[in-house]
Amino acid sequence: MKKLSLSVFLFLTAFCFAQKSIVLDGGFEITAIDDQPREMDASLFSGKLTEAQKLSYMPGGKAPASVNMFLVKSGGKTYMIDAGFGNAVKDKRIDPKKVDVIIITHEHGDHISGLMKEDGTAYFSAPVFISKPESEYWLKKETPNSDLQKKLANVYANRYKTFNFGDTLAPGIVAINAIGHTPGHTAFLIGTGKQKLLIAGDFLHAAALQFPEPTESASFDVDKEQAVKTRISLMEQAEKNGWFIAGIHVPNPGWGKVKSNGKGGFVFTP
Ligand SMILES: [Zn+2]
Repeated sequence: MKKLSLSVFLFLTAFCFAQKSIVLDGGFEITAIDDQPREMDASLFSGKLTEAQKLSYMPGGKAPASVNMFLVKSGGKTYMIDAGFGNAVKDKRIDPKKVDVIIITHEHGDHISGLMKEDGTAYFSAPVFISKPESEYWLKKETPNSDLQKKLANVYANRYKTFNFGDTLAPGIVAINAIGHTPGHTAFLIGTGKQKLLIAGDFLHAAALQFPEPTESASFDVDKEQAVKTRISLMEQAEKNGWFIAGIHVPNPGWGKVKSNGKGGFVFTP
């Protein structure tokens, strides 16, 4: 009996903390780790839809979501894209010693909290790369609720580094302007071969709602109008170029292909 419940527990644990990998041609192995499975509440979203229309995409007023982190292995190095809340480090699904470079889409707490321990020291000895406009926004004296972001810059000190949109951060990892959600929000195009993966950060938050209705925005979007434009543009680029697209909050593993539905929205195939 005890043995049975243990195996059920292990199965459920493995299921809840799904960890999946893909290999792109050009030798990029990408693993998606769900730092914290969660749900997005319908009340967070607004746009052109009526309440009833919105709820038709979100049964029970909720949409399943994740907090994904992506490990990209290429050329003998491991790049970690986003750091979640730190659950994956604490429960040893990620070994900080095995991460060579950290790359951040933007500096909200669910993307950078996992870089620092509760005692305020660094989990990782790797450098952390953040876009210049993102860093400048959070380091401004007047930016509200920016203690965590200012602490990150201090704790990582000379390992805290910035890049510009369009920069190649490593062979096959290019930074793409995806502003709107935050002032320096960045997507990363991964790959050197025919297959590419666009890690689009927080281009959306409730997959069930915002793939078909990309004009709906989450309250977390700093500039909602720009966030809508960016969301649609990233998906159009992914469809046109045949790229896979991935989101931090798209249910794990968070990647798939998008195709226009002919009505201004998209169909996502995980
Ligand atoms: Zn987020």
